[in-house]
Amino acid sequence: MLLDTHCHIDVYPDPIAVLNQAKAAGVHVVAVTEDPGRFRLLRTRLGRRDGIHLGIGLHPLRVTTHYCRDLDRLSRLLPDADWVGEVGLDFSKGGAATKALQVEAFEALLAIDAVLRKPITVHSRGAERDTVTRLLQTNVVAVLHWYTGSIAVAEQAVTGGLWFSVNPAMIRSSRAGGLLRTIPPRHVVLETDGPYARCAGRPAHPADLPAVAEHLAGVWGLPRGAALAQIASNQQRLAAMLRPESA
Ligand SMILES: [Zn+2]
Repeated sequence: MLLDTHCHIDVYPDPIAVLNQAKAAGVHVVAVTEDPGRFRLLRTRLGRRDGIHLGIGLHPLRVTTHYCRDLDRLSRLLPDADWVGEVGLDFSKGGAATKALQVEAFEALLAIDAVLRKPITVHSRGAERDTVTRLLQTNVVAVLHWYTGSIAVAEQAVTGGLWFSVNPAMIRSSRAGGLLRTIPPRHVVLETDGPYARCAGRPAHPADLPAVAEHLAGVWGLPRGAALAQIASNQQRLAAMLRPESA
């Protein structure tokens, strides 16, 4: 079983069809959401079903002056979520104006003890150093999703025990090639970031993950079966690192 650790299921025109295709391809999905309201809608729409884990998030580009209210809602809904995401920082052009608010909201999020008991999938565009520094100061199981920062910061993240998720768009990017060779295979899980990330001219899809695993096998110099086993073992280790609710 492969796990898509970052997929915007609620943004596809037909989420159920995407989930059925994922199931047929042997892929389980972490359905991230961009704010607590969308989490609630998705939870109602999907109910409980096999092979899907719900993520509750507050996307950095959705942080407003009302972030305290949003984080209260997130806290209340957290028991129904399996993951936290999408959260993080975005200091690219689109996020520059809300930089200070995003930092405040991210700090406040990481101060919620129950958040630290779930795996977190983290956005860090243009804010890689700040995001990694902040995560390393917190006892959190975090996956850096679609990381595009420097190799030096990536190495710092690896040393601190953070994870990276690799998607179909990254394996086609020459820039990401150096990163994929740098991150030790033990720190890698998979994602699509679909439908935002694209693959072969169309939105990426959880069923694209076996091809990502195949590409990683080449980068790692491993037979396909060994690469799949490595990824499966990483997924299990990631799940096993989480603190139980009673801790
Ligand atoms: Zn995303």
